[in-house]
Amino acid sequence: MKGAAAGRPEEVIFVDYPTPEAGEDDLLLAPTACGVCATDVKQVQKGALDTRFALGHEVVGKITKASQSQEWKIGQRVAVAPYLPCGNCFYCKRDQEALCSHLYEISISPGGMAEEVLIPGELGRRGTFALPDDLADEAAVLAEPLGCVLKGLEDSHFYAGGSLLVIGDGPMGQLASAAGRALGAERVIMAGMTEHRLQLAMKYFDVTGVDITKVELINEVMRQTEDRGADCVVVTVSSGEAVADGISCVRPGGTVNAFAGVPDGTEIPLDVRKLHYRQYHLTGSSGVTPKHIKMALELLCNADVDFSKVVTATFPFDRAGDAVAYVANRIGLKAMVTF
Ligand SMILES: [Zn+2]
Ligand SMILES: [Zn+2]
Repeated sequence: MKGAAAGRPEEVIFVDYPTPEAGEDDLLLAPTACGVCATDVKQVQKGALDTRFALGHEVVGKITKASQSQEWKIGQRVAVAPYLPCGNCFYCKRDQEALCSHLYEISISPGGMAEEVLIPGELGRRGTFALPDDLADEAAVLAEPLGCVLKGLEDSHFYAGGSLLVIGDGPMGQLASAAGRALGAERVIMAGMTEHRLQLAMKYFDVTGVDITKVELINEVMRQTEDRGADCVVVTVSSGEAVADGISCVRPGGTVNAFAGVPDGTEIPLDVRKLHYRQYHLTGSSGVTPKHIKMALELLCNADVDFSKVVTATFPFDRAGDAVAYVANRIGLKAMVTF
């Protein structure tokens, strides 16, 4: 069976993987769709010598092998967490599962962009979620990235009725804005640099779009928040400067979240006197837990917001390379591969 993997830098190759050997307790999945994530793009740009792993971790599909010990049935449509916290380590016991010391030890293989995917038994039990028929693949593939966003909002002390500033107009910025809207933000401000992306968020997610190539962000945020600053700032742009901008836009006592991964050694100046007197919180978020994926699916099914607008292109599996290039070149927003 075939899987799409990173080959030489900038190249997606198709690898012939052996059919996954599923033990008694394990499940097999035939993906129907898999989202393309920024981490896939990074992997392809960097290239990989080791092709044991296929690309993709935002996967939705149908179960092709069930296990006696679990209630899953063949043909059932599910979304799967890419990896599983152990539940027993120092962090898991303190409800900080995304910091689990064994986070990647139980995961899907070879990856989501493959014709057949192995779900280890434990992941079947704790990280696999049934999908209602009326939830389209375009929405269901967002369970994992939206789960990351919901974890990010939780880490940012987001609350209904509060103001949310999202820095970045890419797929994660869009999902954060849409989630803020769905969870009852009083106001969502999106800072971006791309006209069509800001337009999309204004149209579908009712955000106040701020084009930072034309407008001074801090002035606009103060104007929108009675000169306080935003309650909650989520930085979805991979830059220290963007985090520094976020800090200048947060209200006293609010929270700034460095949500996007940044290159090693990225540093910012920090005015410690302001930190002390303004008493704002500075945090980061990375990863996702099954709990947040479950919350994401509930939101995807029940919210009044159409999150699937973030998926702006669909490619057949044999064009997985084009799907990655579509995201890398920022043509639209998120791409999805279908099988
Ligand atoms: Zn992802
Ligand atoms: Zn753990």
